[in-house]
Amino acid sequence: MSRPTSGRPISAKPVPVVVPKLSGYVFTEKLGSGTYATVYKAYRKSGCRQVVAIKCVMKSSLNKASTENLLTEIELLKKLNHENIVRLEDFQWDDQYIYLIMEYCSGGDLSNFIRSKRTLPENILKRFLQQIAKAMQYLHEFNIAHMDLKPQNILLTSHLNPTVKIGDFGFSKHLFQGDELHTLRGSPLYMAPEIICKGKYDSRVDLWSIGVIVYECLFGRAPFASRTFKELENKIWDSKPVEIPYGVNISESCRDLILRLLKRNPEERITFEEFFTHPFVDLEHCASNESLSKAVNIVANAVKKDQNGEYKEAIKLYCDSLEYFVPAIRFEKDEKKKEAIRVKVKDYMNRAEELKKLMKPKRPPPPVNGVKRTISEDPMEELMELCKDNEELTAAMTLIKAADTENSQENYEQALKHYELALSTFIKYLKEEKPGRRKDLIGKLSHGWMDEAEKIKTFLSVREMKTEDTSATEEENEKKFFDNEKCGIQ
Ligand code: ADP
Ligand code: MG
Repeated sequence: MSRPTSGRPISAKPVPVVVPKLSGYVFTEKLGSGTYATVYKAYRKSGCRQVVAIKCVMKSSLNKASTENLLTEIELLKKLNHENIVRLEDFQWDDQYIYLIMEYCSGGDLSNFIRSKRTLPENILKRFLQQIAKAMQYLHEFNIAHMDLKPQNILLTSHLNPTVKIGDFGFSKHLFQGDELHTLRGSPLYMAPEIICKGKYDSRVDLWSIGVIVYECLFGRAPFASRTFKELENKIWDSKPVEIPYGVNISESCRDLILRLLKRNPEERITFEEFFTHPFVDLEHCASNESLSKAVNIVANAVKKDQNGEYKEAIKLYCDSLEYFVPAIRFEKDEKKKEAIRVKVKDYMNRAEELKKLMKPKRPPPPVNGVKRTISEDPMEELMELCKDNEELTAAMTLIKAADTENSQENYEQALKHYELALSTFIKYLKEEKPGRRKDLIGKLSHGWMDEAEKIKTFLSVREMKTEDTSATEEENEKKFFDNEKCGIQ
C-alpha cells in the first residue's frame, strides 16, 4: 500500500467577493461557499417572486477538472427528480459566471444544524437518515455515486419540521458495473479510508460517509475529528476498527448500523441493499405516499381473517398494518385527514386488543385444597397414583399441577415452562413404556397439556404485538425539538 502522491484535482481559487448579477433575479444574502462556488439566496423578479438558491461558479476559477465536475453536476441534477435531492431548476451563464438555479432550502445545511444542537436525538437522526437513504436508493438505481457526502452538502428545507435533501453533486459520478475511480475526491474527515490508502474505490465510499454523518449527528464530532492534520492522517491510516464513544446511550440497531457502515475494508462494509433494509433505516416503514395504501391492504386482510375466525393471523395483520398507518399519519399533512385515519386506526387496534383477550387461555382453577377428587373422577389423580413408584414421573406430574395452577393465575410464562419440562419427560416415557393403563393415560393427558402449552405460546406471541398508535407522541416530540431550534433554546 502506498500513500497517494496526488493532491485534490481542484485548485482552491479565492471565492468571488463581488456579488454576481443575473438578469431576472435579485440576489440577497450569501448562503454559503464551498469548494468551487458561492451560493446566494435570490428571488425571481417576475411572477410570484419565487425564492431560489443560485450557485455561482466563476468561470476563471475553473480548471479542466472543475469544469468537468460542474458539467457532471449539471448533467446529473437535470435528470434527477427526488424529494430528498436538491432540485436544479435551471442553469445559465454569462462571460464571468455559470449559474445553477436551485430550489432554496431555508433550514441551512446539516453541519450548521448539528452545531446549533451539539448532538441529535436518535429519533430525529433516524428520520433524517431515512430521507438520506431514500435519496441514496434513488441514486443507486441510476448508478450514481455522490462521492462527497458530508453535513455541509445536506440541506434542510426549513427550520420547523424540516426534510433533508442531498445537494452538491460536483464530485458525483455515473458509475457502471465494476467502475473504480482513482482520483482523490471529497473531504478527508468524511472520506472513506480506501480513497486515501488505496486510491482505488467505488460507490461504497458513500456508505462510509453516511456512517461518519450518523456518528457526527449522535456524538457531535466525526470519528476521525483531529486537532492537527498529522493526527487526522494517523487516524485514517490506522487499521483498528472505529469505536463508539463510551457511555453514550444508543439503541442496539443504531450501534450495529454505525459499526457496519464504518468498516474500513469496503468488502466488510454493509452493502447498499443491506443498508436500505437495516432495522435502523427500515425504509419499508418510513413515511411515504405509499404508506396509507399499504396499511389499508394489510388491514383489509386482517378483517377477512377476523371474519373467518382466524384470530391469531388477524391480530398479526392488524398490528402489521399499524407499522404502515403510523408513517401514513405522519405523511398526511392535512390535519382533518390525519385525524380521520387516527380514528379508524383506533377502531382496528381496539379490535386487535379484543381478539387478544379472546385468545387468552382460560384454565379453570384446580380443585380447592382438601376437596380431593377420587381416582375414578379425575384421570390426573389416577395417573398420579400410577406414577407413585417412579420418581421422575411423579416429579413431572408435580410440574403439571404447578403449571395448571400458574395457568389459571395467568402466570403464563411460568406455566409454559413447567408444561414443557414435564412434557419432555412424558414423551420420553411414552417411547419406552410398556403398553398398559399408565401409558394410555400419559398419552391421553399429554395431548391436553400440549394443547394448553400451544395456546399459551400463541397468546404470548400475540400479547406482545404493539397496538398503540404512536404517531401523535412522535410528532409532538419532534415538533418540540424543532421549536427549540427556532427559538435558539438548546
Ligand atoms: P460547493 O460545491 O462549493 O461545496 P455547495 O453546493 O455545497 O457548493 O454549496 C455550498 C453551501 O451553500 C452549502 O454547504 C450550503 O450551506 C449552501 N447551499 C447550497 N445550496 C443551497 C440551497 N439550495 N439552499 C440553501 N443553501 C444552500
Ligand atoms: Mg459543498
